[in-house]
Amino acid sequence: MTPILPGQTIGMVGGGQLGRMSTFKAKQMGYTVVTLDPAPHSPCGQVADAQLIAGYTDHLSLIELSQRCDVVTYEFENVPSESVELIVSHGKPVFPAASVLNVTQNRVREKTFVRQLGLNVADFLGVQDRDDLEQAIDQIGFPAILKTAGGGYDGKGQFVIGSADEAVRAFEASGGVELIWERQVPFDLELSVICARNQQDEVVAYPPTENIHVNNILDISIAPARVSPEVQAEAQHIACEVAAGLGLVGVCGIEMFLLPDETLLINEIAPRPHNSGHHTIESCICSQFEQHIRAVCGLPLGSTELISPAVMVNILGSGTGSRLAGVPELLRTPNVHFHLYGKREAKADRKMGHITALSVDVETALEVALAARQQLRWE
Ligand code: AMP
Repeated sequence: MTPILPGQTIGMVGGGQLGRMSTFKAKQMGYTVVTLDPAPHSPCGQVADAQLIAGYTDHLSLIELSQRCDVVTYEFENVPSESVELIVSHGKPVFPAASVLNVTQNRVREKTFVRQLGLNVADFLGVQDRDDLEQAIDQIGFPAILKTAGGGYDGKGQFVIGSADEAVRAFEASGGVELIWERQVPFDLELSVICARNQQDEVVAYPPTENIHVNNILDISIAPARVSPEVQAEAQHIACEVAAGLGLVGVCGIEMFLLPDETLLINEIAPRPHNSGHHTIESCICSQFEQHIRAVCGLPLGSTELISPAVMVNILGSGTGSRLAGVPELLRTPNVHFHLYGKREAKADRKMGHITALSVDVETALEVALAARQQLRWE
């Protein structure tokens, strides 16, 4: 592939915060960016050169995007693969490729793929009918998690199952969509690794972060994760195997469970920049967003070295108002970086922004980040 160089145009399907932060980097590097999103003034649209206001399956707008751009990428994993194929059929490359989406948009295909690479996942079975459900109960048993195979995020469409009665109730409530039955694993920690690959087959991985979720939504990411150097290296190795196996071009976030015996199981692959990699903007030589732009443009990848321990905490909406009070107080704290995504309405649990604290060690960074967030409230 001939590299896409500064001065050329990148298309970004999806106008959320991941597109916005990627666009900041692309603009810094001298690219033009056109985004496509149905919501006017999207977080990405506010900082891109232009936004096409259209749905992700709107043919005319996808064709216009392909005409205006030299390369196209996306910032959320539920872009229909037909939309990607339409852009490609109009002569423009899209990274990551539709084949990557095909694997990651379905948890059964995703976990089957991981297993075929010889990597570990929690025991699972695809469930499409009552016979499959019975088989899952017999073969895997309880406790289990029943998830929708496609379309879920942040724990949506998931049920924890402790008995056959609960299994039947959850199955019936799911309305006939394809499901996956997974053994509920007793993990010590949730980790993620952001990694990147380009068409020249360079693959790089960031040090793993340790992730703490509240209500299934990422709350805190700690970098580096508080695990042994061996586990850190193994997590990075696994992530690189996944990126290479997928033939990924771009950045992906790979979520893993660390079991008490130090086995790592892969839970999920997100073929895009990831919430747990936001700290890399300030803590690494090359952030996940710059890395994504480099990868999709066919440029050499950057260093993933962590130059400071870092903790990122999310700022979620509370549903109590959309004006954020306490920002001046927060900014009195040294070594914190404050990000808001430009979303107008702070609905409950909506990702509105984040704070990254850098410090000499992760414990201090954690204290600083949490104290900084305490200053904020929605009014
Ligand atoms: P997911 O949507 O797959 O990322 O799941 C959301 C959260 O549910 C994860 O971050 C875990 O905390 C929990 N979870 C998901 N799958 C499992 C599993 N097989 N065993 C234990 N916990 C799980």
